[in-house]
Amino acid sequence: MPLTGIEIFKLLPKTNCGECGVPTCLAFAMSLAAGKAELSACPYISEETKAKLLEASAPPIRPVTIGVGDRASKVGGETVMFRHEKRFENPPGFAILISDTMEESEVDSRLDRCKQLQYERVGLTLRPELVAVKDDSGDAAKFEALVNKVKQNSDCGIILMSTNPDILAAGLNACADRKPLLYAASEETSDRLADLAKENSCPVAVKASNLEELAQLTTKLTEAGVKDIVLDSGSRTVRQAFNDQVIIRSAALNKKFRPLGFPTIAFPCEMTDDPMKEAVIASIFVAKYGGIIVLSDFQGESLFPLLVERMNIYTDPQRPLATTEGIYEIGGPNENSPVLITSNFSLTYFIVSSEVEASRIPSYLLVMDTEGLSVMTSWAAGKFVADAIGPFVKKSEIGDKVKHHKLIIPGYIAAESGGLEEELPGWEILIGPREGAHIPAYLKAWKP
Ligand code: SF4
Repeated sequence: MPLTGIEIFKLLPKTNCGECGVPTCLAFAMSLAAGKAELSACPYISEETKAKLLEASAPPIRPVTIGVGDRASKVGGETVMFRHEKRFENPPGFAILISDTMEESEVDSRLDRCKQLQYERVGLTLRPELVAVKDDSGDAAKFEALVNKVKQNSDCGIILMSTNPDILAAGLNACADRKPLLYAASEETSDRLADLAKENSCPVAVKASNLEELAQLTTKLTEAGVKDIVLDSGSRTVRQAFNDQVIIRSAALNKKFRPLGFPTIAFPCEMTDDPMKEAVIASIFVAKYGGIIVLSDFQGESLFPLLVERMNIYTDPQRPLATTEGIYEIGGPNENSPVLITSNFSLTYFIVSSEVEASRIPSYLLVMDTEGLSVMTSWAAGKFVADAIGPFVKKSEIGDKVKHHKLIIPGYIAAESGGLEEELPGWEILIGPREGAHIPAYLKAWKP
């Protein structure tokens, strides 16, 4: 049960020294309770209190990391049932299935797709992050060779899948340093898998035929010292698997039932043979509440919409997507190129920058920090007005890059042109189009 701000405050030193970045211990306690501060910011908390607070403030669904380095995939850590309550924390990882009975050429093309299928969207790189290597042959040497190949040819996180602990151990020989997920411990194999997981500091998935058994298994593993666990309820019909996801999330969050307080793994690849249906099923688990989603293959036409869905659902609804403030050079501009200005709402930036690019007129685009608000909204909120834009333009030093000193402002803030001429003496303020789509025609008529 998370502690309230007052409960946390009682455990703090109460010296109000301010070293944590806020003036009082009470303010720090409130920030901690709201998840807006890190415990490590206060250097005066005793180890004992730290342990108590960490335990009490641990998310009801434990975060689990698969893999290492930049491409490590963190799942779980969720604190709410619905995104609008706060936000979802860690997007589910998409895994491609590779079996040790597949032809070499098929394995190669899957690994290739895994690398190639990535997309730039609103300044983010969207890509899948996991490879699930499955033992279908029962041959430990073959499995180990395949795991080795995956490790050499992909920087994705690895899931080792076998019902035989000896074969999983062979897989670990090849990739223990990549901290793979071991899939999956059952009643019979849980002791052996607990040992493998502890020896190699790897997370382990548990699979059972119902939620009660699942909770018993996680309790057994937790008592054996395994902390990082992923849940497979064993259901392979969409309806039951969906029910299980909701029950697991609700038990962990609403009932604080620790044995189910772990991220889940879902297998749309085992629920249908139809690739399009599989993508639709996967989309259900993106929304509710898959931690890892294993697909039989990656194809652009199904993976891209899933990645976009995931990005949308896991975007913080309280924080608009924003682009970094600065000068963006489009098409190699020079001292005679036009200078446009816009807000830093990501969608605005991407629309404006693509239209400028489409015009084929090399330009400077000034992006001003409007706290992620669009042109109209930030203008209405007084954040994209003459006395804010003027100092920003001066500070950006765009004046040193161009000879002409003409600034093109969005048509929607035409009313600011007079104020801007006062704020920016020596600059001519030009009213640009209201709509992004009219930018190319406008720029084609540009004269410095
Ligand atoms: Fe209180 Fe610690 Fe912050 Fe100092 S650093 S004000 S003791 S919480």
